[in-house]
Amino acid sequence: MSSPFHSILLDVFGYAAFRGAQQAIIERVAGGGDALVLMPTGGGKSLCYQIPAIARQQRGLGVTVVVSPLIALMHDQVGALREAGVAAACLNSALSWQEALDVEQGLARGAFTLLYAAPERVLTERFLGLLDDLHARGQLALFAIDEAHCVSQWGHDFRPEYRQLALLGQRYAGVPRIALTATADELTRGDIAQGLQLQAAERFISSFDRPNIRYRLEEKKKEPLQQLLHFIEREHPGDAGVVYCQSRKRVEQTADALCSAGIDALPYHAGLPAELRQTHQDRFLREEGVVMVATIAFGMGIDKPDVRFVAHLDLPKNIESYYQETGRAGRDGLAADAWLVYGLQDVVNQRRMIEGSDASEDFKAVMRGKLDALLALAEATDCRRQRLLAYFGEQSQPCGNCDNCLQPPAVWDGTDAARKLLSTIYRVHAASGLTFGMGHLMDIVRGKGTDKVLQHGHERLSTFGVGAQYSEAQLRAVARQLLSLAALGVQRVATEAGHSFDTLTLTAGSRPVLRGEQQLLLRQSSAATPAKKTRRTG
Ligand code: ADP
Ligand code: ZN
Repeated sequence: MSSPFHSILLDVFGYAAFRGAQQAIIERVAGGGDALVLMPTGGGKSLCYQIPAIARQQRGLGVTVVVSPLIALMHDQVGALREAGVAAACLNSALSWQEALDVEQGLARGAFTLLYAAPERVLTERFLGLLDDLHARGQLALFAIDEAHCVSQWGHDFRPEYRQLALLGQRYAGVPRIALTATADELTRGDIAQGLQLQAAERFISSFDRPNIRYRLEEKKKEPLQQLLHFIEREHPGDAGVVYCQSRKRVEQTADALCSAGIDALPYHAGLPAELRQTHQDRFLREEGVVMVATIAFGMGIDKPDVRFVAHLDLPKNIESYYQETGRAGRDGLAADAWLVYGLQDVVNQRRMIEGSDASEDFKAVMRGKLDALLALAEATDCRRQRLLAYFGEQSQPCGNCDNCLQPPAVWDGTDAARKLLSTIYRVHAASGLTFGMGHLMDIVRGKGTDKVLQHGHERLSTFGVGAQYSEAQLRAVARQLLSLAALGVQRVATEAGHSFDTLTLTAGSRPVLRGEQQLLLRQSSAATPAKKTRRTG
């Protein structure tokens, strides 16, 4: 344990041993090589550039520039480094003109070991001029590009400036670069390497497994708030946690409801005044047992070790987001829950958001694929972790610490119900050229002669009542599964009254199901037990 890196680890940071690939990464980068680092949240990415920065500074090689997209994050890191006796500073839009000038002068003087800067700041001619000067004097030790997935337009926080960071490699030849991220599927990985021109960088890919997190994805019942309340009261009373909701309104409602139930909950979303957001964040970080109810505006760079649960009341966009958001639980390595509820409406909403956006067809195709992967995870009846890791390219065994491993779900064969639902959609459309929402379709399948059914003459369809044995919950589960398989599409339809609603359509993927070539196994949730004994038809 006598390498210079170990000494820095112990003397500066107070840690006895490196974790995972840290040492190999540090050796590579301190030695002047490029690296692309994929490590889960909490894995210890910061040391991977902080220690090389200190080592290279000690060798007289100058300053390390850390590109980071988040001011709060920079601030925390700089504070921690200074406390450890490392000369660090940051340059961002939160500084006054005079403060920024002081930092720039310090940089030129060689006063810092690490300088954190936002990408848009790094890319200014003024800043590049300072770097040119340092480079000419051999005083530019290293570039670290944090949150490197921001370079990818497929990722959840694409930042166009990140693409231009490739110029650092061209303009400052010989200065090593390290790019780091906590989330990247194969596609994003390729994007990072290409977008930052790091194709030749050595790749360090850590396992993405977070064994202490127990994944649970459940069906949304009629009162999701009650489900959440129940979950918190029964399993996490007094624990710190994060509840993610999709909209600001939902954040407010949920926080209110939790407070009324005596839970110390605070809202957080981009619509709140900055000071209030800060106050809430500080309380969450400092106090014990605060539940933060938030949109995804909350979380990046939040390093709170003892978050005992992350709950999702709405579906995240894709598996990367789900992984990153749930990854905020249990950073201390102790048991934590990732709990999510979702329903048919969530799936419909997500599909429609993709179809209704004015993005390019290519972009939509990628988004569709990502949503399908998430829905497949949500509908899975086998190990969640295995699927999650497989998505990040890792093979693994059933984990024993997810809902499906702990309590293998009973499954029922939804193939017949799916065929009946799909042929109803087909017949309705063939008869009138119209598409309908799930409620009406279910009425036809279950043989309910509602006003609307009679008005359209749908009681005369050959599929009227063919699925009378299925409950609404079962048919909803079938529709969810079909949507997750892209065997069902969503189309927004406008009414004469100026409203609009979602209707279901057939897709190319419907055919194999209609023909009975694709079997549909569905989890048998308590809400979806058969109305009568399931009758099997061929
Ligand atoms: P990441 O950026 O990958 O999410 P951090 O760099 O913030 O992770 O590290 C997560 C936590 O682990 C921090 O509190 C950090 O101090 C700690 N840590 C990192 N490396 C080590 C190590 N080798 N030994 C002990 N603690 C470590
Ligand atoms: Zn499992």
